[in-house]
Amino acid sequence: GATIGILGGGQLGRMLSVAASRLGFKCHIFEPGAAPPAGHVAEKVVTAAYEDEAALRAFAEGVDVITYEFENIPTSALDLLESLRPIRPNRKALAVSQDRLVEKAFLNDLGLRTAPFAAVDDEIDLEEAIAEIGCPAILKTRRFGYDGKGQARLKSPEDAAQALADMAGAPSILEGFVEFSAEISVIAARGVSGEVACFDPGENVHKSGILHTTTVPARIPEALRTDAVLIAARILNALDYVGVMGVELFVSKAGLVVNEIAPRVHNSGHWTQAGCTVDQFEQHIRAVAGWPLGDGARYADVEMLNLIGADVEQLPELAKQPRTQIHLYGKAEAKPGRKMGHVNRVL
Ligand code: ATP
Ligand code: MG
Ligand code: MG
Repeated sequence: GATIGILGGGQLGRMLSVAASRLGFKCHIFEPGAAPPAGHVAEKVVTAAYEDEAALRAFAEGVDVITYEFENIPTSALDLLESLRPIRPNRKALAVSQDRLVEKAFLNDLGLRTAPFAAVDDEIDLEEAIAEIGCPAILKTRRFGYDGKGQARLKSPEDAAQALADMAGAPSILEGFVEFSAEISVIAARGVSGEVACFDPGENVHKSGILHTTTVPARIPEALRTDAVLIAARILNALDYVGVMGVELFVSKAGLVVNEIAPRVHNSGHWTQAGCTVDQFEQHIRAVAGWPLGDGARYADVEMLNLIGADVEQLPELAKQPRTQIHLYGKAEAKPGRKMGHVNRVL
């Protein structure tokens, strides 16, 4: 069977490896950090830095296709890997999703609505951006933010200096605050031959900037469900995308507003493990391996609950619950904010 290379050995890489092994593939993981969660299930782990050209080359030569579980892969590493093996999803998807400014411009060019935004590199930019966009607003670093990190909220223009200081000199973007009634996401997949399949939109609740629960079905009108899926399909087609993508959306009075896209399997898609015949992990492996997409139709209502840090202490109780599927990532230390596992409860 073929071997799939995965950049990143966290929980997403781990669950991708499980799905791949079920389909008869082997996985090799490239991960700079020690003891990656995916290491327990992958055939091989290459522990090396993204600057280590010899290690990257050996990794690429040992696999048939390369995919990834996170979007912040250094450009130099991608240049080398791409010269040796196909990378799916492609470079364009990475370039767009690595930088919030490029991402928003790309989405607007497709005719999709985003929060109003402006680039901010210094005090003067920020002053002008606030004058244009108004408050409340959110200042975010353009790159490397996740789980709400690298963000500062501005209730009024007086918060500008502190917000700018919080960015620590990183190129940033000011976003107008979207008054949303709900947050939803679409987990969408596109195959090598261009077919698109979307999972049913899920409704997301965040706690301290980190995803807390995803519930399906999202409590939104049927028309919005269709809009959300069409938006996701438009994004995947425009990128000539192959694989699974998470598309985060705000439900506002004016309709759907795209928050951000993630060119990979997504935490808000974990419910598919309990709600669909083919979950997001199998779907991604099918796509990158050039298989037909599988049947992702939803056959159950599901609530996914993230176990963050000390939440894992609830496990003995959760394990007694009916209709509850437990996923643990095999991480040793339950540090605050660390994703330790999740449970899918069939409703
Ligand atoms: P993730 O872990 O999903 O990658 P992130 O760090 O990239 O998160 P965002 O998704 O940009 O951050 O923002 C985190 C949360 O903050 C959003 O899910 C939403 O609840 C809120 N938020 C972000 N931007 C806006 C906005 N422009 N208007 C209103 N709320 C926002
Ligand atoms: Mg993000
Ligand atoms: Mg987000």
